[in-house]
Amino acid sequence: MEETLELAIIGGGPAGLAAGIYAARARQRVILFEENLTGGAPALTGTIENYPGFPGGVAGAELVERMREQAASFGLEIRTFEPVENVRRAPDGKRLVLRTEKGEYEAWAAVLATGMRPARLGIPGEEELLGRGVSYCATCDGAFFRDKEVAVVGGGNSAVEEALFLTRFASRVYIVHRRDRLRADRILQERALAHPRVEVLWRRVPVEVRGEGKVSSLLLKNLDGDTLEEKEVQGVFFYVGNVPNSAPVRELVELDDAGFVVTDERLRSSAEGVYAAGDVRAGSVKQVAAAVGEGVAAQMHAQRYVEELLGTAYDQAGP
Ligand code: NAP
Repeated sequence: MEETLELAIIGGGPAGLAAGIYAARARQRVILFEENLTGGAPALTGTIENYPGFPGGVAGAELVERMREQAASFGLEIRTFEPVENVRRAPDGKRLVLRTEKGEYEAWAAVLATGMRPARLGIPGEEELLGRGVSYCATCDGAFFRDKEVAVVGGGNSAVEEALFLTRFASRVYIVHRRDRLRADRILQERALAHPRVEVLWRRVPVEVRGEGKVSSLLLKNLDGDTLEEKEVQGVFFYVGNVPNSAPVRELVELDDAGFVVTDERLRSSAEGVYAAGDVRAGSVKQVAAAVGEGVAAQMHAQRYVEELLGTAYDQAGP
C-alpha cells in the first residue's frame, strides 16, 4: 500500500475534476479514480447552453476535456479505467481504505463524485433490444437513425434536449410522456413544441418495445381510456430518470431512499472524512455548473478536515 493520500477523488466528471483542480493547486497528495475516461455525463451530452461563461453554448465533451487539461496542468494524478469498488474504514478508525481492481489505497478523506446513470423503465423488450434500437444516449447513437422514426420516453430536460438533438438525424421524433405537460425547462419545451419533426404523444406510457432482432415498434398505453396503440419506430431512447452511482459507499454512509448520498451543509456524509459532490449527492440540482461548485466546496472542506486532523492547518501552527 502506498503512502496515505490526503484526498481520494472518486469520479472524473465536472464535480470530481473541479475538486481535483483545487486539490492539485493545494499540493495535496491526491489521486482521482475514474471508471472510464474522465468526462462524466456531460461528455455524452450535445451542447450545454446554461454553463455560465459560454454564450452560444459549449459542447459537453469540450467543456470536460478543458477541465481535465486544466487539472493535469496542475499535476493532478488521474487513474482512468480504475473504478473504486468499495470504500471502508481502516482498523485505526480514521483512515479510509479504497479498493479498486488494481489494489488498495489509504486516504484521510474522500470526495465521492460518481454521478448517476440512466434508469431502466423495465418493460419487455427494453433489455433484449438494447443496442438494437434501444438506447439511453442520443449523442452516442443518434447518427444510426438517419431518416428513421424514433421515440424518446420522458418529459424532463434530458428527454426534451435529446429529442431535439435527434432531429438532426431522424425524420420524426415522438416524445412519449405520461402527463399533459412537460417537466423540462420552458425554453426547451418551446423549441420542441415548435419543431416540425417533433410530436409529443401526451398521456402515454410505453408497455413493450417490439421487434425481431431490432426495434420495429413501441406499444403504448393511452392513459385516457386505457387503450393500447402501437407506434412504428426504429429507435427508442429512454430518459425516465436516473439512479445514483453510490455503490462503493453503500455500506459506509447514509443514503436516501433513492440511494443518493445524504450530506450536511459542508457536503460531509454521515461517515467522517467522506464528502459527496454533484449528481450523486441527495439534494444536488443536477446541473454541470452546480456540480463544479459542489466539487470545489467538498475539496475545500475535506482539505480543512485533513489539515486539522494532521495538525497542519495554517492557523494551527501559531503566529
Ligand atoms: P427527470 O427530470 O427526473 O425526468 C424524468 C422523466 O421521466 C420525467 O418527465 C418523468 O415523468 C418520466 N418518468 C419517470 N418514470 C417514468 C415511468 N415509470 N414511466 C414514464 N415516464 C417516467 O430526469 P432527467 O430529464 O434525466 O433530468 C435529471 C436532472 O438533470 C434534472 O434535474 C434536470 O434538470 C437535469 N438536467 C438538466 C439539463 C439542462 O439543464 N439542460 C439537461 C439534462 C438534465 P414525470 O415528469 O411525470 O415525473
